[in-house]
Amino acid sequence: MTETLIPFAEAIERYEPVIGLETHVELGTRTKMFCGCVTTFGAEPNSQTCPVCLGLPGSLPVVNRTAIEYTIRIGLALNCTIAEWCRFARKNYFYPDMPKNFQISQYDEPLCTDGYLDVEVNGKTVRVGIERVHLEEDTGKSLHVGGATGRIHGAEYSLVDYNRAGIPLVEIVTRPVTGTGEDAPVAARLYVTELRDLLRSLGVSDVRMEEGSLRCDVNTSLAPPGAPWGTRTETKNVNSLRSVERAVRFEIERQAAVLDAGGRVIQETRHLHEDTGTTTSGRSKEEAQDYRYFPEPDLVPVAPPRDWVEQIRASLPEAPAKVRARLRAEWNVSALEMDAIVNAGALDLVVQTVAAGASPADARKWWLGELSRRAHDTGTELTALPITPAQVARIAELVAAGTLNDRLARDVIDAVLAGEGDPDAIVEARGLAVVSDEGALTAAVDEAIAANPEVAAKIRDGKIAAAGVLVGAVRKATGGKADAARVRELILERLT
Ligand SMILES: [Zn+2]
Repeated sequence: MTETLIPFAEAIERYEPVIGLETHVELGTRTKMFCGCVTTFGAEPNSQTCPVCLGLPGSLPVVNRTAIEYTIRIGLALNCTIAEWCRFARKNYFYPDMPKNFQISQYDEPLCTDGYLDVEVNGKTVRVGIERVHLEEDTGKSLHVGGATGRIHGAEYSLVDYNRAGIPLVEIVTRPVTGTGEDAPVAARLYVTELRDLLRSLGVSDVRMEEGSLRCDVNTSLAPPGAPWGTRTETKNVNSLRSVERAVRFEIERQAAVLDAGGRVIQETRHLHEDTGTTTSGRSKEEAQDYRYFPEPDLVPVAPPRDWVEQIRASLPEAPAKVRARLRAEWNVSALEMDAIVNAGALDLVVQTVAAGASPADARKWWLGELSRRAHDTGTELTALPITPAQVARIAELVAAGTLNDRLARDVIDAVLAGEGDPDAIVEARGLAVVSDEGALTAAVDEAIAANPEVAAKIRDGKIAAAGVLVGAVRKATGGKADAARVRELILERLT
């Protein structure tokens, strides 16, 4: 079914969007939430299970202390209040990938409440309220075999892998975000970006959206200005930053069309299609499902001692937003330039390259220029390129010292990426250094003059610009290794 859409700009003229985000983060603990099974990603299916995470009768859960600690770290970093006493609850529903037929979660007593995260959106600070941060266990994973798309429709049979069942999962729920107007889709993406960077800096998760360790449900509603909020839809399991933005944008365009036609937006979950950026209807939430929550009888309450919470607070790293502000001042770069570094995934690399002795300008130039191009051309992440910040810093140093020019530096980069060793060894082995030996340069200049008498005559007549031809000839003769500025000086010394 093709949805009717209203162009985004037009929709925003008539309606105000309200967004909300629920983010699930798999914690990077070594073992699961309520048992000792390890949590390695990509292991043989059902090789990381035990009676507890398979929900076998008589088995009893035990809370993972590290998971509690990580959740408190997240709560504190998000400016939340940490509960002095809280409980786990059973959320009852049936699903084949959930072995117990209930999920241990938190309901009315979450571990962390009432915080916020500031997000820079087009030069303005948007304070996103955090309603709650709670801890639960992940479900297993169904694999549908025989269908075309990996979905259950058309599949011949389904398999289930319980390795993921019981991995600690933190849910971070925002309050409704209002007043962002046309920036709503971007604000949603930037919130998730900031949250991801924050979680990474806390060391609590590897936050890989493509592997599902960070996933988002995106809520969107529309209403005319001044009117009460509209009915929201929930786009489930959005798994890339770009898709977060697309999901909000599409829902605004779709809901505006529904409202324009005098219709009613239905409260439902929707699925985003990565290929088209559109959403389609999932299950209706008009009648709220009754999960029959009740306190988990097999677990004692969690009452984190205050001094422990304060110890965790004292151990928090500098927040990414503060790090960026500090580095901007130190490196003297604009907000836009800093965005470019962050968006290229080069921040840590530039930091390490500067620490290894390069100037911030040089470090930025190489990582955002030549090396980003190489990463793009080979379809790899910048961080996965086989060159270290120290090697980049050394190449920048060789250029600054006049040993290499930019063209030769690119050859050295090629050689490092090809595994030929460190920059100095490569310069030595391949004879790549700029020729600054006066004897060799003078000989090459004299040859170039002798071979181009008409050009030499022009320069003698005062047409200095013609010197470029001779510089080019000398550089060609020396395989690009001649220092162009010195060659030019030598030519002019001889002919003027
Ligand atoms: Zn287990």
